[in-house]
Amino acid sequence: MPLHRHLSREGARRIFPSLRADAVGGAIRYYDGQMDDARLVVNLARTAASLGAAVVTSARAVGLLRQAREVTGVRVRDMEAPAGSPDAEFEVRARTVIAATGVWTDDMSRMLGDVGLRPGFRVRASKGVHLVVPRSAITGDAGLILRTATSVLFVLPWGGHWIIGTTDTDWQLDRAHPAASASDIDYLLEQVNKVLDRPLTTADIEGVYAGLRPLLSGEAESTSKLSREHAVIEPMLGLLLVAGGKYTTYRVMAEDVVDRAARRLGGARPSRTADLPLLGADGYAAMWRDRADLARRHGMPGGVVEHLLERYGTLTTHLLALIQADPLLATPLAGAPEYLAAEVAYAAHAEGALHLDDVLTRRTRISFETPHRGSESAGQAAEIMGKVLGWDATVRAREVEHYLARVEAERQSQRMPDDATADAARMGAPDVRGFAADRGIDLTPPPEVRLLPG
Ligand SMILES: Cc1cc2nc3c(=O)[nH]c(=O)nc-3n(C[C@H](O)[C@H](O)[C@H](O)COP(=O)(O)OP(=O)(O)OC[C@H]3O[C@@H](n4cnc5c(N)ncnc54)[C@H](O)[C@@H]3O)c2cc1C
Repeated sequence: MPLHRHLSREGARRIFPSLRADAVGGAIRYYDGQMDDARLVVNLARTAASLGAAVVTSARAVGLLRQAREVTGVRVRDMEAPAGSPDAEFEVRARTVIAATGVWTDDMSRMLGDVGLRPGFRVRASKGVHLVVPRSAITGDAGLILRTATSVLFVLPWGGHWIIGTTDTDWQLDRAHPAASASDIDYLLEQVNKVLDRPLTTADIEGVYAGLRPLLSGEAESTSKLSREHAVIEPMLGLLLVAGGKYTTYRVMAEDVVDRAARRLGGARPSRTADLPLLGADGYAAMWRDRADLARRHGMPGGVVEHLLERYGTLTTHLLALIQADPLLATPLAGAPEYLAAEVAYAAHAEGALHLDDVLTRRTRISFETPHRGSESAGQAAEIMGKVLGWDATVRAREVEHYLARVEAERQSQRMPDDATADAARMGAPDVRGFAADRGIDLTPPPEVRLLPG
């Protein structure tokens, strides 16, 4: 990547015309990488599956199996099975269990009962909220990283949008659905408006999302000062916990914990992550170079093929094959025309998506990239998923109903003044896993789509 460069005030404003003249004295331009975390996580799981891992989604470890003072496996609840059904829980035996459970790490150690983590070492959750606004709301050809009184603020280009974030506050409420409140949104608008020539308002906001950072914590620090480092610990023989860190360091984290497990297993090979490309990476440069040919051969517009290549790498050929078999899948998705119907079908076929919100929030980012938050895409997406997963009209209707309830609950939470009220509003929509099962709706997909095939 090019070296960094110092810019004068005029130089900075040439690259970023929306910067207010009196808000900038100069800048440093540098280059960095960017990734879509939804794509990364799915492809990582599929890469593991292609190497022989069994990947199961919608499964929660609810207990540790122990023999004397050693962990020998986990007890797992199938979140898609109706509560109380004989298959709802099962055991997985293992000589080593690795828990990479982010902000749920303390829960894993609590499963040990009386033998907890070493004192002074815990994982805490820090909430980070981002706003998504259209690219047209701000004029600039680079991202911005600005200092605020307590932290930093990012204004980052994201396809046809800007992402503005983030907050950094302690979060002790529901960890599965961290909620952004009106004060989080006001804070971000106030910070970014200090430097923009045209202030943004809530009317500019297309989407809002919140995530939780797993931070290693000492006992008395405030969250923004906590360590971003990671650690591997073995609180009991047979159980390894890896936590903390960042996406940027995920391979180092994986290597540390896998090597430790390999040593324990004796004879197992150490981690080979350093030389392992993700599925879709091998051959990517050549396919990108020849993208115009690829588009011509498949009768697709060049821009569509570029979009697919950026999201799927060389696995784009799988999507093109789906489209060849069913040309209707080449149509843009209702309400989110930058995505194709084929991407929804592929998420259900090959990426382990079991529910509408898996596709609209965790395979694509439609839930925060559109002002309607995906509600205008839900009906068509349910039709497409339903064909792959064998949903009848009742299941399709329930999936859409659940998704719309989730969008409404999120919108309500974002009107609430603080974390407690925002969390209560968000909790108004039940999680689709368990929700469907406990109402006797069978969502079990055909067995071949239950795992993530490589
Ligand atoms: C707003 C924000 C901005 C960020 N920006 C950056 C950045 O710019 N660069 C960067 O490198 N990092 C960034 N991060 C940090 C990065 O997102 C996290 O470090 C990373 O997501 C942590 O991954 P993880 O796999 O450890 O935990 P998680 O992503 O939390 O995954 C843990 C998984 O464990 C599962 N799980 C938990 N308990 C159980 C159980 N009992 N049974 C089965 N499964 C279980 C959960 O369902 C979850 O899928 C950011 C984070 C946030 C919130």
